[in-house]
Amino acid sequence: MDLLSIIVPCCNEEAAVEEFYRRTAAVCAGLPEVEVEYLFVDDGSTDRTLEALRALARRERGVRWLSFSRNFGKEAAMLAGLEHAKGDLVAVMDADLQDPPELLPQLLEAVRGGAWDCAAVRRVDRKGEPPIRSWFARQFYKVINKMSRTEIVDGARDFRLMTRQMVDAILRLPEYNRFSKGIFSWVGFRTRWVETVNAQRCAGESKWSFFKLLVYALDGIIAFSTAPLAVASVLGLALCAVSFFAIVFVIVRQLVWGGSAFGWPSLVCIILFLAGVQLFCIGILGQYLAKTYLEVKRRPVYILREQGGDHGEEE
Ligand code: UDP
Ligand code: MG
Repeated sequence: MDLLSIIVPCCNEEAAVEEFYRRTAAVCAGLPEVEVEYLFVDDGSTDRTLEALRALARRERGVRWLSFSRNFGKEAAMLAGLEHAKGDLVAVMDADLQDPPELLPQLLEAVRGGAWDCAAVRRVDRKGEPPIRSWFARQFYKVINKMSRTEIVDGARDFRLMTRQMVDAILRLPEYNRFSKGIFSWVGFRTRWVETVNAQRCAGESKWSFFKLLVYALDGIIAFSTAPLAVASVLGLALCAVSFFAIVFVIVRQLVWGGSAFGWPSLVCIILFLAGVQLFCIGILGQYLAKTYLEVKRRPVYILREQGGDHGEEE
């Protein structure tokens, strides 16, 4: 019998943990062909999430938990889960039930059939989300797909079920700046997309502010595209062309009409414009440099403080 590991990143989800387990276990009870292992990752919660996980693990079989020394972000929590999962099949799910567990049988069927290595969920609407946020999200997918050769699917959730082979491939990517939506796609394999409508969070509130999402989006672009680096070259070339015509114009005007000495306001404008362009390009370079700097330090993506569960053992 195959073992299915379900990884659940949790950050301040005390109100959602029990409900998540109840609904997911009810679905898994209908899956006799697999044994299920739950792996909760407490990502530095400041509420009673860890206590809730401890209580759950003490009560139920097949529940393990990891707890970070501080908040390292959802990407780190997913990586920790993938590294510690023992399953032949591995699923990643949010704790807030926005990834409906009722889809699990469908995902499982796709992957166990052998035709697919991965089954992933994408939502086809963004109902219940602030319209501004949806608009920016859509623009982000448009931009990143233009700039990167790795396809980032619009509306793709992190909810997916993968084979052990694909998990091992993901774990071979050693990068520190992890952008899972890109990584899942970059490693390849045959992915079956299952569509769903947007679900509301069951309890608690979203950990993603607009600003956090914006930074995440920029990180994604930098991690999977070097196109912004070409901006400097393109802008430089364009400005050279403009200045060439300007020089010709000035020479001709001098030869035909003579003496022309006005122009310091326009000169200031031009200098300011060019200074802006230069700073902008240095900024782009800086972004890549900063990411490279973080990569070469080779810091661990997360640090565990405690783990436990399953047989009641706690470290
Ligand atoms: N999460 C996490 N660490 C974080 C932020 C979020 O582990 O720093 C988890 C969170 O507990 C949830 C999942 O990631 O299980 C998705 O987060 P959330 O529901 O807040 O995001 P949204 O669904 O609003 O995009
Ligand atoms: Mg959510």
